[in-house]
Amino acid sequence: MFFYMPTKIYSEAGCVKKYAEEWAGLGRKALIVTGKSSGKNGSLQDVKEALKKEGKEFCVFDRIEENPSIETVMELRTFGLSEGADFVVGIGGGSPMDAAKAAALMMAQPEKGAEFLYENGSDSALPLVEVPTTCGTGSEATPYSILTIHAKRIKKSLPHKVFPAYALVDGSYLKSAGRNVLANTAVDALAHCMESYVNSNATDFSRMLSLYGMQLWSSVKNVLIGAAAGEKEYGTLMTASTIAGMAISHTGTALPHGLSYYFTYEKGIPHGKAVGYFLPGYLKAAAPGDRKTVLMAAGFPDLQYFTSFLHGLIGKREKDPALLDRAVTGLLADPSKLKNAPFPVNEEVLRKICQEE
Ligand code: NAP
Ligand code: ZN
Repeated sequence: MFFYMPTKIYSEAGCVKKYAEEWAGLGRKALIVTGKSSGKNGSLQDVKEALKKEGKEFCVFDRIEENPSIETVMELRTFGLSEGADFVVGIGGGSPMDAAKAAALMMAQPEKGAEFLYENGSDSALPLVEVPTTCGTGSEATPYSILTIHAKRIKKSLPHKVFPAYALVDGSYLKSAGRNVLANTAVDALAHCMESYVNSNATDFSRMLSLYGMQLWSSVKNVLIGAAAGEKEYGTLMTASTIAGMAISHTGTALPHGLSYYFTYEKGIPHGKAVGYFLPGYLKAAAPGDRKTVLMAAGFPDLQYFTSFLHGLIGKREKDPALLDRAVTGLLADPSKLKNAPFPVNEEVLRKICQEE
């Protein structure tokens, strides 16, 4: 077995400022990458104050859209290079964090064009710090960056592996998240644990992370359906998400993620919600022992209960047979996602996974 996780993870309230001397030492001038509002929970302020205290310069790009595109990443690189930034700090959900990774990669190869994003080749990138503000993607602890390719009407993971040097995980940034952001992103973290456990690349190391991630998740899942949340619950949701990221950084995700991208691109369905639509079907297709273990770890007595819980949280998928056909055909042509399922996948299997009970 093999496990590699080179990211230094600090996970505690106030960690951005507390460890500033260390992470701000990565360079001289930081390119801060965030969204329109994802820094408005104290995170952007904390990062700016930490950098000022350490005498570092910074510039801010705060126009990352949800499901960031290749075009935005290229604009970000131009901005970062023109500002003379030599390290990158992503602040937000998976969208700004993934854009920050891709920009760190492209800034380290200034002579390459956008096509390099999807070519094999150097993975060298500027040093990167990630500060999550949603409890879903775990991007702060993965080497993945998923971008939107408008020319192909799809989202796709880069072949490059860019691990952040630091992940600064502070659950208090979740306080500003509304019910939908919390629910959608928490479903994503759960999906990472489940898809990582039911995965042909799973090992004892990765299963340890998936199982514990689900136990943590289960201990606070009532927050998603209206129970009161405080510092402790937000911290637990964040930790579960980071651990889930560590699990997929080893195994990759599987079929629900592959199917979801078509629904996010064409219908604008948020990432975690779109993935959640296919989770019950994926578990149904899994070996009975795996299904039972995963459901128990996440605190669900059976698949039917889990399915109703998810429907209550994220709703049901709207019927769109043409889009479903495109997703099934597209995924069948993508061996990189199919191979992660620990059972043979053909059209019939995929269509069963897509059936809603
Ligand atoms: P997101 O697209 O980053 O953010 C969703 C929305 O939540 C945005 O409107 C964002 O505002 C807002 N938001 C973020 N933090 C908030 C906070 N604390 N309070 C209130 N609102 C907040 O959503 P996400 O689900 O975290 O990330 C999805 C992206 O990550 C997708 O592109 C997906 O493919 C990718 N992903 C990456 C990995 C990986 O390993 N790298 C894994 C799974 C998914 P702004 O508009 O201001 O940003
Ligand atoms: Zn995901």
